[in-house]
Amino acid sequence: MAKITKRSEDYSQWYIDIVTRAEMADYAPVKGCMVIRPWGYAIWERMQRALDDMFKATGHSNAYFPLLIPMSFLQKEAEHVKGFAPECAVVTRGGDKELEEPLVIRPTSETIIWAMYKKWIQSWRDLPLLYNQWANVVRWEMRTRLFLRTAEFLWQEGHTAHATADEAVQEAERMIGIYRTFAEQWMAMPVLVGSKSDAEKFAGALTTYTIEALMQDGKALQAGTSHYLGQNFAKAFDVQFQSREGQLQYVYATSWGVSTRLVGALVMSHSDDAGLVLPPKLAPIEVVIVPILKAGVDNAAILTAASRVAEPFGDAVRVKVDDRDNVSPGWKFNEWELKGVPVRIEIGPKDLEKGQVVVVRRDTGQKTPTPEGEVPVRVPALLAEIQEALFTRAKQRLDEGCRAADTYEAFRRTMDEQGGFVYAPWCGSAECEAKVSEETKATIRLVPEQAEGCGACMVCGKGPAKRVPFARSY
Ligand SMILES: [Zn+2]
Repeated sequence: MAKITKRSEDYSQWYIDIVTRAEMADYAPVKGCMVIRPWGYAIWERMQRALDDMFKATGHSNAYFPLLIPMSFLQKEAEHVKGFAPECAVVTRGGDKELEEPLVIRPTSETIIWAMYKKWIQSWRDLPLLYNQWANVVRWEMRTRLFLRTAEFLWQEGHTAHATADEAVQEAERMIGIYRTFAEQWMAMPVLVGSKSDAEKFAGALTTYTIEALMQDGKALQAGTSHYLGQNFAKAFDVQFQSREGQLQYVYATSWGVSTRLVGALVMSHSDDAGLVLPPKLAPIEVVIVPILKAGVDNAAILTAASRVAEPFGDAVRVKVDDRDNVSPGWKFNEWELKGVPVRIEIGPKDLEKGQVVVVRRDTGQKTPTPEGEVPVRVPALLAEIQEALFTRAKQRLDEGCRAADTYEAFRRTMDEQGGFVYAPWCGSAECEAKVSEETKATIRLVPEQAEGCGACMVCGKGPAKRVPFARSY
């Protein structure tokens, strides 16, 4: 099996090697597009299930809206069309006829959804509407980075309608909280939470909340966003409701989404030079049992032992017995390491004699001989321990990756030499923000809810300034 490029040699090639060799995704014949292969898709399915459960537990229902949106819909919200028009794919022909009105392949679904909400919302009794859809979207993009940046990607988009601004803001905050919980408890990926600056917020939003993670190369990755849209879309699509008091009012809106980009974030959070490292909760297979088979001898006893060890896990742990006899045990070890399976159990003839198995952790490589009878208790505990350890390690990296700088000069030096999130004083003006991003390629990732006040802006020298985290990002 060909070696994976080392992180220290070429981080970006290391990422591509893992994604392609672990058979998570491949490049599609159409530039900008990707094929998600079964191993990558199984991880996405685990993510989907966990998120979907959390959405439903907070009162949301799934629905499905069409892929094609009339161009005129997109033009109804001025900021929205300005933000999305440059990256839209547009259908102008159907069969052999030119269409009267071009159709946009959805880059996001606010417009088509709000056109429908106009039909469905009349009274305060119809509110709130808490809908989510799992779908694909297209944003024209030629610089492909598998999972991180592709023209077509999979995501979920929640779209909710509320009677009051307070309720809508609470919803937008609740959903960024759910994304944070998912990132931390499922992906074992700690995040910073806050709101975007005006320059960075979603086209058409009043407030965009974001979670931002730190990758191993010191770059930030926006992992999920939740938007408070005010009455912008209700006004654009004339969605009014009769209040309890009998008055006609515009509806308040939110939208929120995470995408297959999270799979890329997962890869870059935990993996190493041997391949993918998966947190157990999102691993399609948590435990692989490899019986050490020998050519030309009767392996029946070993194979029986492998099934016997697998059996007590039942449905509680996702276990696979790799009983292939056409590849060597060493080859299997490499393959499952590359694919990031959290725990491997080896059973050889000598182990069988001693009534034990060897339990191997993917994250540390640690091997522990374990009496067969203790496996059903020890292995689930180990999986929980690995989940925790991955989070702790990533949290430590995030904490160490948060740095401070007071002057622009110190900021630039820290950004170039160390990267990560550099907290620096900013006056709040778009001009200073743009200057930093043009000159250093670092952007304000978020404005913390309780940003520390501090003297003067590092760019213009004016105050009062707030300390906000800048980073270069994916
Ligand atoms: Zn300034």
